[in-house]
Order: sequence, then structure tokens, then C-alpha cells
Amino acid sequence: VQQTKENLFIISQYASDFFKKELWEGEEGKAIGLSYFKERGFREDIIKKFELGFSPDIWDALYADAIKNGYKLQYLEETGLCIKNDNGKIYDRFRGRVMFPIHNITGRIIGFGGRTLKSDKNIPKYVNSPESPIYHKSNVLYGLFQAKKAIRDNDNCYLVEGYADVLSVHQAGVENVVASSGTSLTIEQVRLIGRFTKNITILFDGDSAGVKASLRGLDIILEEGLNVKIVSFPDGHDPDSYMHHVGAGLFKEYLEQSKKDFILYKANVLLAEAGSDPIKRAELIRDIVESIAKIPDQIKTSIFIRECSNLLKVEERILISELNKIRSAKI
Ligand code: ATP
Ligand code: MN
Ligand code: MN
Ligand code: MN
Repeated sequence: VQQTKENLFIISQYASDFFKKELWEGEEGKAIGLSYFKERGFREDIIKKFELGFSPDIWDALYADAIKNGYKLQYLEETGLCIKNDNGKIYDRFRGRVMFPIHNITGRIIGFGGRTLKSDKNIPKYVNSPESPIYHKSNVLYGLFQAKKAIRDNDNCYLVEGYADVLSVHQAGVENVVASSGTSLTIEQVRLIGRFTKNITILFDGDSAGVKASLRGLDIILEEGLNVKIVSFPDGHDPDSYMHHVGAGLFKEYLEQSKKDFILYKANVLLAEAGSDPIKRAELIRDIVESIAKIPDQIKTSIFIRECSNLLKVEERILISELNKIRSAKI
């Protein structure tokens, strides 16, 4: 089993080298891929640090090169780099895309994300490697290998949605940043971060239709005993676009000044939504207390109860009795 995994690491490293070579030396890669990164404002040192690449827009560019160099089809298939169709024809998963290799915590490549350069709505914007013996999505955070030292040094981890967000935030000099890459945050990912810091700051996409939906998902961070702060961005901006919009200096100031504690952020979002509707307000109070109930630390709990009592204009004792109800229901 270890030997198979080792072979998958090796084929992934080979593929990354191939995609890098195509980006920096291939005619198509230079003309389309590298210029795409440059147009997006990514510096060369960042492109190199994250080992970005390019997959040519050919059915079997990687496959042909791999076989020529003695690599086995079996491993190309097990990592999902190549796919055999119903007619037995073998083709590359990633074609005509800029490539983001995904590293494990020790820096070995375990998978890829590839972004299309076409604006055709029928083509998926991102294609990702499938699960494999070396790549388990729910246990991986994009950028953690490059970020782990800075996470420890700053005792905080910024969490963003996408690959481009990681690159841009990193480029702004904020190197303690990782992405969950589109999937909702898992308990394994939270524990992974928890090995380096107890503080997570979420950078939400401004366009996130699902801000409210994603709020519930963040309770797992509280349950793990970590502190959560939120920064949201103006309409239509994600961390990547906002960094390039305002520049590195103002972006960093914005992060510091817009940080809000998760519980209070959530209370404010729900409050704005409920307006003066008494039923909705009652629901929101229960919703907030449910989140507070997830926090293991009693001192923090009592501080949040006090702050929410002020904010929601509800007596502390009401919130406390609600909290006790939720807690006893769980036992
Ligand atoms: P870009 O800035 O390059 O347009 P983004 O990161 O802002 O991309 P979002 O639409 O905000 O893209 O999506 C966030 C993340 O979700 C992506 O970085 C990617 O990991 C994942 N994702 C987005 N679209 C898809 C898709 N069609 N299939 C799989 N994953 C996707
Ligand atoms: Mn988004
Ligand atoms: Mn984006
Ligand atoms: Mn985005």
C-alpha cells in the first residue's frame, strides 16, 4: 500500500513539473497561461512559490509525455490525471487550464485544481482532481504548506474560498492564508488549522449568496474551541479582487479594521434580516444561542451572552435559560 502511494506522489510530482514547464516554456502556455496570471496581477515570485502551471488544450498532452518518459497509465488513472472513456480512449482530465497544484502538509503534491481560460458558461470554471489514495479533499487545505509557518508566527489563520484568493492575500504580504476550495469546511480541516493556531479569520466572498447558509457551518469551529472572526467584502468582491482593487496596503488595513467576532457578526446579519418581526426575532435569538452553546469555554460563553443581550435587547437571564435548555437537550 505504501508503495502504491509513493508511486502516486511521484506521478503527481511529474505532472506538476510537466504543467510548470508548459507554463514557462510552452508556446501556448506562455501566450495564454502565463499572460493570464499576469493580467490577473499575480507576481512571478508568487506564481513560482505556488508552482502554478498550464495544461495544453490537447486531448493527451500529459498522457503522451508521461508514457514517453516511462510512467505507467495505472498511476495516471489512479490520480485522475488521465481518464479512459467507454471506447477505451485515454485522455487528460486537465486541458487548456491554468493549474494549481495542491500540496499536503509536508509539501508533496497530491492533486490539482485547474481553471478554464474560457468564459463559456457551459464549461466548469474549475476542475479538481478526484479523491485518490493520496488525496482526501476533506482533510486538505489549499495553501497550508506555504502558510503554516506564518500561521504559527501570527497565531491566526485566514480562511478564504478559492485558489486565487490564497495567492492574492499571500501576495499582499499576508502569508497566513488557506482555502477550503469551494467545499464547506470540515471538522478535519478545522483540526488541521488547530494544530497551528486557535484563531481563524474567515474572509467571505462579498457575492456569497450563501453567507447565511455558511454561518451555520462555522459552528464546527466553535465546537473545536477555536475563536472565529469574520471579514466580509463589498458587493461583488472576493479577497482576490478586492486586494487588486485597493492595493496591498489598504487591503491589509481593511482586514484589521473590518474584523468582527463571529457571534456578533452573525447576530447583526440575522438582526438586519429579521427587522421588527417578533417571530423572526425569537428565531434569531435561538439561533444565536445555539451557536454560543457550542463554545466549550464558560468565560467566553458568558461574555457573548452579555454582548448579545445588549445587541438584541434581551435580558441576560432569558438568554441563559435558553442556553441551558439547549445544553440539557444535548445530554
Ligand atoms: P476566480 O477568481 O478564478 O474566478 P474564485 O476562486 O473566485 O475563482 P469562486 O466562484 O468564488 O471562484 O469559487 C470558489 C472556489 O470554489 C474556487 O476557487 C474553486 O476551488 C471552487 N469552485 C468554483 N467553481 C467550481 C466548479 N465549477 N467545480 C469545482 N470547484 C469549483
Ligand atoms: Mn464565490
Ligand atoms: Mn475570484
Ligand atoms: Mn471567489
